[in-house]
Amino acid sequence: MTPGSDESKQRVATGLLPGRDEVDEAVAAAYEESRNVEGGDLADHIPSLAEADPELFGVCLAGVDGSIHEAGDADVEFTIQSISKAFVYALVSQARGHEVVRERVGVNNTGLPFHSVMALELNDGHPLNPMVNAGALATTSLVPGETPDEQWHAIRTGLSAFAGRPLDFDEEVHRSEQATNQRNRAIALLLESHGRLDDPMDTAELFTKQCSLRVSAHDLAVMGATLADGGTNPVTGERVVSAEVSRDTLALLATTGMYERSGEWLFRIGLPGKSGVSGGIVTIAPGKGGIGAFSPRLDSAGNSVRSEQFTAHLSRALGLNIFASDSYVPED
Ligand code: GLN
Repeated sequence: MTPGSDESKQRVATGLLPGRDEVDEAVAAAYEESRNVEGGDLADHIPSLAEADPELFGVCLAGVDGSIHEAGDADVEFTIQSISKAFVYALVSQARGHEVVRERVGVNNTGLPFHSVMALELNDGHPLNPMVNAGALATTSLVPGETPDEQWHAIRTGLSAFAGRPLDFDEEVHRSEQATNQRNRAIALLLESHGRLDDPMDTAELFTKQCSLRVSAHDLAVMGATLADGGTNPVTGERVVSAEVSRDTLALLATTGMYERSGEWLFRIGLPGKSGVSGGIVTIAPGKGGIGAFSPRLDSAGNSVRSEQFTAHLSRALGLNIFASDSYVPED
């Protein structure tokens, strides 16, 4: 399917965000409500993440009209970590098609933590979905390219197109994670033993590299807004993926974006989202915009406590929950 062709035009009915001032006020209010929320711990399985300032907190909403509404440390950069999985999935799905990823990787929740080895063993080596590490490794191995360098170039360019600016690579976090990612390498080897990928060590390193790209809450909001806008970046106007790929990505995030807490997240916030262990969360309101939030303290599943609180407030204030409806009142 060619992006922008008639085939890619789907009928959609998502509603709009309220006016600019109302959105600004809602973002500021949700930020104030969540900035003093305590609780949670810094990620410690990657040594350099344990050095983050736990008080950092930045938020941003990017509308599909390209408007930006932000508060706090919205331009402070951090490594994207698992949030990269959503966008690499979209790029792979765009390049190889929906069915390949569905069959090779899967689209169901594991009900287990993101780095679970047991999930793989229980399912005959099938990774179940692209948002846990096993499925992300399998997905990353499908990125087009003859060599790991070509694949890396495709990932970096693709994620930068989602953000609308060239994303930097954090050498230090990458080194720190590469020195301690035995578990991801073990998962990659297990996947190889089940015939689900070919170059386990290269793939594990590539995955670690994609996790070390630097983004801000502002970038996450624009990346999310691209998925909210049928795959076109609303700030640069560039079509990054097709409307179908965006739709599929959001369906996956709704069921698996917050790992074993995806149900609780959906019940509370009613929107697809994706978290990463450095404290970022991207959330997408289809047809309306993307929300980026960053605060390093995490709950036990690895989801940022303040980012979740902020997103819950904002979803409620702006009526973003995709499951909410009101009773129909006929006009006379
Ligand atoms: N690179 C991280 C890891 O493998 C990604 C995990 C995450 O953000 N949940 O631990």
